[in-house]
Amino acid sequence: MYRPHAFLWRPAARERHASKADDLSDGAEALMLCGATHRVVLSWEAWLWSTCAACNAEAHLLVNGPRDMWGSLAR
Ligand SMILES: [Zn+2]
Repeated sequence: MYRPHAFLWRPAARERHASKADDLSDGAEALMLCGATHRVVLSWEAWLWSTCAACNAEAHLLVNGPRDMWGSLAR
């Protein structure tokens, strides 16, 4: 699956976290960028939860990190 970044945002544990996990479907246990493992919650109101500060900081590092010649994040 094509991903513009190496991570995706998912609501979990009453915050919006980012994760590189392959399975981010509703109810999946996923390791988040902040280091916590949370169960993904894909309810409508869950998208209104505030952003996890640690995930946000880590996501910014990933986006601003080294890129390959096509503009994708280096791995
Ligand atoms: Zn987080």
